[in-house]
Amino acid sequence: SKVKDMSAEVVDSNPYSRLMALQRMGIVENYERIREFSVAIVGIGGVGSVAAEMLTRCGIGRLLLYDYDTVGMTKTDAAVQTLADINPDVVLESYTLNITTVEGFETFMASLTNKNFSTSKSGSGVDLVLSCVDNYEARMVVNQACNELNQTWMESGVSEDAVSGHIQLLVPGETACFACAPPLVVASGVDERTLKREGVCAASLPTTMGYNALKDYFPTMEMKPNPQCSNSACLERQKEFALAKPARDAIAKAK
Ligand code: ATP
Ligand code: ZN
Repeated sequence: SKVKDMSAEVVDSNPYSRLMALQRMGIVENYERIREFSVAIVGIGGVGSVAAEMLTRCGIGRLLLYDYDTVGMTKTDAAVQTLADINPDVVLESYTLNITTVEGFETFMASLTNKNFSTSKSGSGVDLVLSCVDNYEARMVVNQACNELNQTWMESGVSEDAVSGHIQLLVPGETACFACAPPLVVASGVDERTLKREGVCAASLPTTMGYNALKDYFPTMEMKPNPQCSNSACLERQKEFALAKPARDAIAKAK
């Protein structure tokens, strides 16, 4: 319900009012810092376009938008036009590309590691990646990029009837990556295209385990990384995370 309130509140185009709205939401303490953050959004469709608009209205510092599709104009250029009107202070970057091609992946990685703007401490030049794509292959590519860059990201999925979905936070080395726990239909080797019409999102976690809008049911769970994960960058991040455990324990003790 907080999210619903938010869209009604954050309508003012004055940057100060935008921050006031974020403050009133009361979710984050250091809300002014949103201006320092860069967020990459992969897939500017049903989920990605709304995420981009919300972040723009909240006064995010910079958005990097990726999509290969067109709506007359390219989706990313159309989004930039709309978002710049909503909030001209946001630095907007439009990337019309397919992240699963060699060329697309190279540009994707180069844009994520461009540190001219960011304050991020990880290997990446952004603070968060949002995966808002609609297929397994693209999700695996985002997973690969984020594991390589040690980049925290969020994965989303909506069922075709749009009443259920899931959100997964992925912190390389610390939580399961997208390859650690492959979706059941993928693990069982069924071609995802054959499942397209059944009202399920074959490419994500079983939607019955996620949010159900009709029942307002939103279960949460934690998934540990898989020590046998097929993704080598994930295994490297797991090793680093384990090595840093004494330091984490010491910090926890000092608190
Ligand atoms: P709908 O399914 O309701 O018609 P849509 O086609 O926009 O909407 P969504 O599932 O809402 O689909 O959004 C997914 C978005 O991700 C799409 O805009 C699609 O073009 C984009 N996308 C999917 N795969 C890739 C990829 N490999 N590279 C770049 N963008 C991708
Ligand atoms: Zn993994």
